[in-house]
Amino acid sequence: MPILIARSISKSYTDTQKRVEVLKGVDFEVAQGESVAIVGPSGAGKSTLLHVLGGLDTPDQGQVILAGADVYKMNDVDRSRIRSREVGFVFQFYHLFPELTALENVFFPMMVVTGGMRQMNDVRIRAKVALEQVGLSGRLDHKPNQLSGGEQQRVAIARAMINEPRILLCDEPTGNLDSKTGEAIIETLMALHQGEERTIIIVTHDEAIAKRCSRTVYIKDGVLE
Ligand code: ADP
Repeated sequence: MPILIARSISKSYTDTQKRVEVLKGVDFEVAQGESVAIVGPSGAGKSTLLHVLGGLDTPDQGQVILAGADVYKMNDVDRSRIRSREVGFVFQFYHLFPELTALENVFFPMMVVTGGMRQMNDVRIRAKVALEQVGLSGRLDHKPNQLSGGEQQRVAIARAMINEPRILLCDEPTGNLDSKTGEAIIETLMALHQGEERTIIIVTHDEAIAKRCSRTVYIKDGVLE
C-alpha cells in the first residue's frame, strides 16, 4: 500500500477574472520510504501539487489518500490532525518567527495543539532532539537574525520533524541558499530520509538534487510527464 496516492487531481485558480488551470488530472503514487523529486519549469504547478498532496490545499477534483486516509473527505479538524502526525513541510523561505529563538520556533506550532505543562515539557524535549538531529544543538537560544540562511533552514527542518512524520514534503528547500550550504541541507534531508526510512518528496529546479532521489517525476503545464 503506497503511503501517498493522488488520483485525477485538478486544480484551478481564478486570477483577475482569468481562470488558470494549474493541475490537469494528475495521478501520482509514492511508496513508503521512497525519495521522489518533482521537477519542472516555474509555474508548472509544482508547489500547488505539493500543497494538495500534503493536505494544505483542496483540489477542485480528485482524491488524495495519505497514510490510508482520504484527506479531502475529512473535516478540517481531522485533516489537520493527520497532517500534523504524518507530514512535515519544509519551504524555500523558512517562515520562522523573528522574535522567537530556534528552540521556540520548533516547539511553538505544537503549543497550539498541546495542553498541560507536562505535555509542554515533553514537546520542549522533542524540539531539542529535533534540533540536535539537524546539527543545531549549539544554537537553541539564537534568534533567526543571529543564524545563517542554512541554519535557519535547519530550524525549519527541525520544526517539520517535531512529530517524527513519515513523510517530508520539501518545496525548493535550497532555493534561497548558496550551492555549498544547499548541498549540506540536502545531506541533512537525505539522512532523515535514509536513516529512518522516511518518505521524502522534493520540489526542485536542480537536476543535481533530483539525482539524489530514487525517482524523478517531471511536470509541465499541470501535467505529469
Ligand atoms: P511552480 O511551483 O511550478 O512554480 P505553482 O504551483 O506555484 O508553480 O503555480 C502554478 C500556477 O498557478 C502559476 O501560474 C501561478 O501563478 C498560479 N497560482 C498558484 N497559486 C495561486 C493562487 N493562490 N492564486 C492564483 N494563482 C495561483
